[in-house]
Amino acid sequence: PETGLSAGLPGPRCNRGMDTSTVTQPRRAERLVTGQPTQDGAGVKLTRVLTHDLQQRLDPFLMLDNFASDDPNDYGAGFPSHPHRGFETVSYMLTGNMRHKDSAGHEGLITDGGVQWMTAGRGVIHSEMPEQNDGVMEGFQLWLNLPGKDKMCPPWYRDIQSPEVPEYTTPDGVRVRVIAGVSHGTAGAVQREATQPLYLDVIFPDAGGRFSQPLPAAHNAFIYVYRGEVSVAGSPVARQRMAILANEGDGVTLQASAAARALLIAGQPLREPIAQYGPFVMNTRDELIQAVEDFQNGRLA
Ligand code: MN
Repeated sequence: PETGLSAGLPGPRCNRGMDTSTVTQPRRAERLVTGQPTQDGAGVKLTRVLTHDLQQRLDPFLMLDNFASDDPNDYGAGFPSHPHRGFETVSYMLTGNMRHKDSAGHEGLITDGGVQWMTAGRGVIHSEMPEQNDGVMEGFQLWLNLPGKDKMCPPWYRDIQSPEVPEYTTPDGVRVRVIAGVSHGTAGAVQREATQPLYLDVIFPDAGGRFSQPLPAAHNAFIYVYRGEVSVAGSPVARQRMAILANEGDGVTLQASAAARALLIAGQPLREPIAQYGPFVMNTRDELIQAVEDFQNGRLA
């Protein structure tokens, strides 16, 4: 709760506008976006929610994919061995089993509710393969950019099984899983200094409810509704729609009148040039050419 005490404190470390405050000037939904059906890996059907043309607007986020199917023909072939350089991948599995193996020696299985965070840095070659022959496979993969100074850092990997994902429940009964960042005093599983990502899974109960999250106005932010319907400052956002939140005010207020689930994702923009060629994201074309050469010559990983 807002005590009012922090408002008088000087200096950049004061808490005003951060997560102990309430939201008084909520952001509007600036634009609604419908994801693009596509295929990736060895033919996995998915919906690309955050597409290439939104990379500048949603800096530091580069991509968000949503996969959801109960047909193994849609997901069974998985994502066999492929490289990455220059950014981070965050996989959040709602239902299903996916095994990750990479050239840095990391291996892990993520299952229902689990998260896998991989920093590709200077390079990894990895595979992400379903470990089930039937049933539902549903989840998300988010790409988070690295600042130029960190793009060639050593690779890093961590999986966070579902019980280890920090979460809390508001007095309204809204359950909030904190994958990254800090929400209402609950620190998420991962923190990143340069991009300050906030990644929440907001779960409204059958009766719905209201959820507010303070956000610095400069941070780019969006929600993606994947169950039910959620309103942003009075504007309804239907299932399978992303709402880009205007850079204004002191946070976001979400409201649901029935059961609903939405991702709330925000971060500090890097404001650097973005150069992407497939699985490589660097600052310049020359760095991309170098990445391809390194991969072809076995020097990437
Ligand atoms: Mn990958």
